[in-house]
Amino acid sequence: MSHTTLPKIELHMHLEGAAPPAFVRGLAAEKGLRLDGVFDERGHYAYADFNEFLKVYEAATAVLKSPEDYRRLTREVLARAAEHGVIYTESFLSPDFCGGGDVGAWRDYLAAMQEAAAEAEAQDGITMRGVITCIRHFGPDAARPIARCAAETAGDFITGFGIAGAEMVGRPGDYAWAFDCAREAGLRLTAHAGEWGGPDMVADTIRDLKVERIGHGIRAIEDLALVDQLAEDGIVLEVCPGSNVALRAVSSWQAHPIEKLRARGVKVTISTDDPPFFHTTMTHEYDRLADVFGWNEDDFHDLNHVALDAAFCDAPTRAALAKRLDAAR
Ligand SMILES: [Zn+2]
Repeated sequence: MSHTTLPKIELHMHLEGAAPPAFVRGLAAEKGLRLDGVFDERGHYAYADFNEFLKVYEAATAVLKSPEDYRRLTREVLARAAEHGVIYTESFLSPDFCGGGDVGAWRDYLAAMQEAAAEAEAQDGITMRGVITCIRHFGPDAARPIARCAAETAGDFITGFGIAGAEMVGRPGDYAWAFDCAREAGLRLTAHAGEWGGPDMVADTIRDLKVERIGHGIRAIEDLALVDQLAEDGIVLEVCPGSNVALRAVSSWQAHPIEKLRARGVKVTISTDDPPFFHTTMTHEYDRLADVFGWNEDDFHDLNHVALDAAFCDAPTRAALAKRLDAAR
């Protein structure tokens, strides 16, 4: 069966990473920009491994040059997500790509994205919140102005702060200043860890950055004491199985540890990460989970309530979304 119309809560989706190839090609053509090495002969994003993925990601992102480009991108991405039943999405936003970390420039980009999000909410019934992410491989010094952008624009729309990029650069504690700054501004915290790094990276991230959610976190499975700790502390994992398979963080869907983590009591959620890069959608993720692990409508209902409980939104928004999840039963 297909799970297209089932209402879904998504917590981990990078805005630029969700840009459809046709959208990026169209924008490049309008601007007369060349995009060498970004697409394969079928027009898909082309990369062989995680480092190439990051390079292609940044090359594709380079065609996005103005708040208006980001308004159009946001509207496009939300329309595509809504087609797969997503009623709430948290999108990772990177001021590094939107004004280079300058707060004034960032405000202009943010206003454009919020305009698109309001339109999508009215027209497509999808609610978006923004989680500002610093880029790990740009280094700790570069993370500071990004945290300031986040702190300055924290509110109803920008509700969280996190870190993305190459996980094996530095240690989590190197970024503690940025996370402290964001936490003091009232933002809720998540961080990519345990996608490439081992259980120690997950444990250090929780200890040093004091996050309540972990992006991926799948390699926690290599340390069952840590898994039990995650379950006991209620740390939520933003698991993106299609991404993990595409980037070969795991060898196959069958080998993915999500079912073991869930069975041991860890709060797991499902997201697409960078859907067109990984040839996935939320529908595809659900279809595979049903095929491979036998997850049924009850499992998906529980999954979405776990995700909604962990969402970085206010109580009225959460209550309204809960009604929509329950009405679909
Ligand atoms: Zn991610």
